[in-house]
Amino acid sequence: MNFRLTPEQQRWRDEVRAWLQEALAGEEESVLYAEEEDPERLRAFNRRLAAKGWVAPGWPKEYGGLGLGPVEQLIFNEELAYARAPDGGRTPAVGYAGPTIMRFGTDEQKRRHLPAIARWEVVWCQGFSEPESGSDLASLRTTAVRSGDGWVLNGTKIWTSHGHYADWMYLLARTDPGAPKHRGISYFLLDLRSPGVSFRPLLNMAGRKGFGQFFFENVVLPPDSLLGEENRGWYLATTTLDLERTNIANAGSARRAVDDLAAYLRAHPAARAAHRLTVAGLAVETEVARTLSYRVAGMLARGIVPNQEASALKLFLSELDQRIAAAGVRMLGPFGQLLPDSPRAPLRGVFALASLTTVARTIAGGTSEIQRNIIAIRGLGLPRG
Ligand SMILES: Cc1cc2nc3c(=O)[nH]c(=O)nc-3n(C[C@H](O)[C@H](O)[C@H](O)COP(=O)(O)OP(=O)(O)OC[C@H]3O[C@@H](n4cnc5c(N)ncnc54)[C@H](O)[C@@H]3O)c2cc1C
Repeated sequence: MNFRLTPEQQRWRDEVRAWLQEALAGEEESVLYAEEEDPERLRAFNRRLAAKGWVAPGWPKEYGGLGLGPVEQLIFNEELAYARAPDGGRTPAVGYAGPTIMRFGTDEQKRRHLPAIARWEVVWCQGFSEPESGSDLASLRTTAVRSGDGWVLNGTKIWTSHGHYADWMYLLARTDPGAPKHRGISYFLLDLRSPGVSFRPLLNMAGRKGFGQFFFENVVLPPDSLLGEENRGWYLATTTLDLERTNIANAGSARRAVDDLAAYLRAHPAARAAHRLTVAGLAVETEVARTLSYRVAGMLARGIVPNQEASALKLFLSELDQRIAAAGVRMLGPFGQLLPDSPRAPLRGVFALASLTTVARTIAGGTSEIQRNIIAIRGLGLPRG
């Protein structure tokens, strides 16, 4: 496989990089402010992207994208992550809700939902996990019971990222309690302003509003809220999850962190002697992660939905992000533990904050144990159990 970017791809990277430098000049990097607590700021940034047609550059033009391929989308995501640009819910909307609707939606659903995402008029969130159903997602208990042409939804969803400012949710609900657990689930698109929907924010371990819990009490789901066929939702969900593992992972923020640490060591000779080999090792690991991400994008470009390859990338990169954060805190000495709100925090507290926020990286989107299971079973052909 050739990992070199084509001249057009390099031009694309340079264009995105130059635009970000200008767009984010004078802006605090999003990791430093409580990104999730300032929805208006997030919307404003995403609308600037939308004005350039850059919310979903990898999507076909008919849905509001630029018709670029997965490799170009990865280049774009990587540059945004490197620049620490705000996300504000783009990842679930562009990375997995949109492509799942593109694949399984009716023409009307595609017309209604996809351009609205590309124009950043609606924010989407993912309603899969429940208090008793995470890794074993198919055990979910939220129900959608037939009523006339539609359904009535009851239950709860938890750990919903972007929930406190999302407009729509794609969710899974049990529609046939008598069927084997994978076969009685349907996939719905829910307008979160519907009567009977309520939300409770949850704080993450950094004290920030990263996610929350939704409650549904007799929420009416109209007929056009069903995506795909009734009781076949599990098969759509596995596509969403494959896409999620793929999209979660780009090495942009890891590269940025390693570059910041290297710059710090260049300026601090005492720390340099103790930590240069560590940073060198992390730089090598970051290149490994980057290579894994381009392998996955290359598969998508050839029309293959990556499976254990996406798991290997997600597993390696999420654990690498934790190693980088921990190394950064160690390297920066006792003050390295100060969070961004402290004026004495070295490197503006980015590594202390990352040491808290990256803990979730090996849980969200499927835990490391689940990724290892996938690699063992589907990648290495090892028997279950
Ligand atoms: C920051 C963050 C954001 C999230 N955002 C969303 C979101 O937007 N939407 C959404 O639907 N969900 C979201 N989640 C939920 C996430 O998908 C689940 O937390 C995750 O799938 C794990 O499920 P669980 O928390 O129920 O843990 P459990 O499944 O209960 O797992 C507990 C432990 O048991 C281990 N374990 C479980 N089964 C196995 C097995 N078969 N083999 C080996 N070990 C196993 C796990 O690895 C874990 O260590 C988010 C989570 C986090 C942390």
